Amino acid sequence: MSEEYNKALHTRLVSMRRELHEHPELSFQEFETTKKIRRWLEEENIAILDTPKLETGVVAEIKGREEGPVIALRADIDALPIQEQTGLPFASKTEGTMHACGHDFHTASIIGTAILLNRRKKELKGTVRFIFQPAEEIAAGARMVIEAGGLDGVSAIFGMHNKPDLPVGTIGLKEGALMASVDRFEILVRGKGGHAGIPNNSIDPIAAAGQIVSGLQSVVSRNISSLQNAVVSITRIQGGSSWNVIPDQVGMEGTVRTFQKEAREAVPKHMERMAEGIAAGFGAQAEFRWFPYLPSVQNDGRFLRAASEAATRLGYQTVPAEQSPGGEDFALYQENIPGFFVWMGTSGTEEWHHPAFTLDEEALIVAARYFAELAVIALETVK
Ligand SMILES: [Zn+2]
Ligand SMILES: [Zn+2]
Repeated sequence: MSEEYNKALHTRLVSMRRELHEHPELSFQEFETTKKIRRWLEEENIAILDTPKLETGVVAEIKGREEGPVIALRADIDALPIQEQTGLPFASKTEGTMHACGHDFHTASIIGTAILLNRRKKELKGTVRFIFQPAEEIAAGARMVIEAGGLDGVSAIFGMHNKPDLPVGTIGLKEGALMASVDRFEILVRGKGGHAGIPNNSIDPIAAAGQIVSGLQSVVSRNISSLQNAVVSITRIQGGSSWNVIPDQVGMEGTVRTFQKEAREAVPKHMERMAEGIAAGFGAQAEFRWFPYLPSVQNDGRFLRAASEAATRLGYQTVPAEQSPGGEDFALYQENIPGFFVWMGTSGTEEWHHPAFTLDEEALIVAARYFAELAVIALETVK
């Protein structure tokens, strides 16, 4: 495409992104966003697939060579319950809702990719599917897309997250674990309530819980290999209702983040043993409950070369991607099919989910062009 064409497309993408930014919608409420995406694709005569199970979100396709493989490009479309504080002229018009994770940017960029690929159909050695996924922020949308058949027939999937700390034109690439698994736990410590002045007649669950909090800190340092990483955070602890009564139980909960499957399996086992053992030492009982939430984003090494080649062809920089302890439901697609997730530099001033989160819109055309190139190359790579 000519320089002029790219400039004109960039202008269109900026206005799309601003339109989305001004009217953010929360997870599974992206009805207007869905209508806009459909309209923009229809204006380009891009085929939209029938997905009756998806109330929000759009799945579209561009077919190149008929008998070739299908690859998917995914953009998430939802916003967050945050009051915007950017002061931008196109700031959110919806009280308490904001595109503070840049999913407006992801959506507009991938529409740009669709527009570009629609003009390069002849180069496509297969089909490119575009997944505009709802409800990433509550880690529910990817599951919904899969249930709706969005991955049917797809050989590989690609996606991105904007990265404020990388400059525009720089793309972070990494094979293997990129983003952490996200899991939740609850611990209920049961003792025996009684008079605070006569603790010897009670089993104090608060004393036991205090030791459990300390003990759990040693799981990462003593039970997990120094070559792996894990985070254990206890974020809520509740017990007691009065100054002179020993309560009969204490509840706590928190989250565990890991990057390796082994660590993800080992941490809860050690936590359970630790909690039960400490509680038993006090004559109390601890009940450990584990709620698996999201696996880690694991990039398939077979696509590292394609991901790098796409950047090189367009004159963009690549850097080794830094891991993020945040979660991404893109990981759920990767449980089904191989995939590759990249960091797209956006020269932002604030981190994701900050009320003053911004990005440099120059990154829109960069991302649109990058994924078009990547799709062309990936179709030659997958079998
Ligand atoms: Zn987010
Ligand atoms: Zn996000």
